[in-house]
Amino acid sequence: MKRLLPVLSLLFSLCTVVPAAAETTRLTVVTSFSILADFARQVGGDKVEVTSLVGPDSDVHVYTPTPHDAKDVGAAQLLIVNGLGLEGWLPRLQQASGSKARIITATQGIAPRKRGSDADPHAWQSVGNAMVYVKNIRDALVAADPTDAEMFKANAERYLAELTALDREVRVEADKIPAERRKVISTHDAFGYFADAYGIAFIAPLGVSTETEPSARDVAEIIRQVKKAGIPAVFLENFNDDRLVGRIAAETGAKIGGTLYSDALSGEKGPVPTYIAMVRHNIRALTSALVR
Ligand code: ZN
Repeated sequence: MKRLLPVLSLLFSLCTVVPAAAETTRLTVVTSFSILADFARQVGGDKVEVTSLVGPDSDVHVYTPTPHDAKDVGAAQLLIVNGLGLEGWLPRLQQASGSKARIITATQGIAPRKRGSDADPHAWQSVGNAMVYVKNIRDALVAADPTDAEMFKANAERYLAELTALDREVRVEADKIPAERRKVISTHDAFGYFADAYGIAFIAPLGVSTETEPSARDVAEIIRQVKKAGIPAVFLENFNDDRLVGRIAAETGAKIGGTLYSDALSGEKGPVPTYIAMVRHNIRALTSALVR
């Protein structure tokens, strides 16, 4: 016991400095938008400090970076992006920031859907793809911070199991919708991967990016399609201008089914602070509008 005491007191003094040391070893991660930030936090836990450039309820397609963003990117050790043409504003920001961060593209390995000659960037809308994102992020965190590898792997395994259950849950819910009612209108074309995975058709007046405005002719064509196809419900999105969807609802008699979260989570106190909450919210909004 006598010989233990000095050891214990040494351990005690070591422990008192540990919090400060742990603080400095947290990996600094910057993501382009909020959904990637959630994935990084799920896998990184308290070993990572995650900042998202595009915040909650904000539009990643048409983002204008701030000087503060350049500072964040400059200080990042790891930069996580979606790729598939989503972040057109990012290369200039990276250059301006003088960033030396490792960059990982979370969609690596996912076969993109095509919209004309462009890739559809919204791959996270299928839960199966989200699992690929999570594996890519896990591997990037392990490479950037090997000392915490076991923790990242354990967190990823737990989270991937939750996503597997979520995917099953969405399929069970989607199956409740009668075949002839599996079609909706949403603001922009963010749900192609969701549609492919779960068998619900989406028509989107704004196209795949929010950068393009539909012409009067486009709108007339959509109204014609909605009437002809007997589309039962139209949906709003959490960051877009909803007037167009409102007008389509008014002119076709389709009901407004609520808000779908496509490209951004809500804030922490909002209804969908995480990816899992987002997917669950969306499928419930769809089934409550479409199941009779
Ligand atoms: Zn989008």
